[in-house]
Amino acid sequence: MKKGLVRLIFKIFALIIVISISAFYLRTNVSKNIPEINFLDVGQGDSILLKLPNNKHALIDGGPDNLVIRRLGESLPFYQRKIDYIIVSHFHDDHIIGLIEVLRRYQVGAIIYIKDFKESSISKALFDKAREKQIELIGLENEMEIKYSLDCVVGILNPLIFGVKIDDNNSLITRLSCQKLSALFTGDNSLAVETALLNTDMDLRASILKASHHGSKSANLETFLRRVDPEYFVISVGVDNRFGHPFLGVLELVKKLNIKIKRTDLDKTIRFYK
Ligand SMILES: [Zn+2]
Repeated sequence: MKKGLVRLIFKIFALIIVISISAFYLRTNVSKNIPEINFLDVGQGDSILLKLPNNKHALIDGGPDNLVIRRLGESLPFYQRKIDYIIVSHFHDDHIIGLIEVLRRYQVGAIIYIKDFKESSISKALFDKAREKQIELIGLENEMEIKYSLDCVVGILNPLIFGVKIDDNNSLITRLSCQKLSALFTGDNSLAVETALLNTDMDLRASILKASHHGSKSANLETFLRRVDPEYFVISVGVDNRFGHPFLGVLELVKKLNIKIKRTDLDKTIRFYK
């Protein structure tokens, strides 16, 4: 092949790559510093990708299997290989199995996890992989805050600070609060944690509330929903799951309160940005 022709093909390829990257940037909010929440459709489990100002990324949980890798690929540009923080709400399989493959494939800055949990073969595999990759491990006993910009903060707290009983459904509570977008992620927390939160004077209001425990009746109190006062109630749940999630009574309550419902089993990956 002539040299000129090779050069031309090379230039066309380079042009295609530049156009694809620019198209991705225009299509997403990455370049605009607009925070974005992606409730990834990972079946029966939780996995939520937060895109934050200054090109920072956080992932809350990783779902029950490697489907999370495909979903991350759909929500991130191919060149985005770094996830700054992984937040492990708690150590149930439907929240952590997928994280092991995430650690293999992405460069992860740190893992923030709930302290005081029951070890399992999966949690052990997760920590082994994290140590092998020399990822910083932060076992959260109380609370912390990560500031992403002047008006965008992620707060994370361990419900044990309220003196609730140790329970393996106890999950880190994550609150995203940006100028126009706010959300509360409550993991698989139960009524006891919701009640403890209600007994504080914390500002719990958020425009998006992740349904506690996949919309189960073991959580999602009416008084809690009223206090959070969300516009959207998002249920991360698998099609025809064997747990009967979400609970019909919870769906009826949410409808009665005029809160919009989104579900990953029906809506697939759900994206919010503002
Ligand atoms: Zn769960």
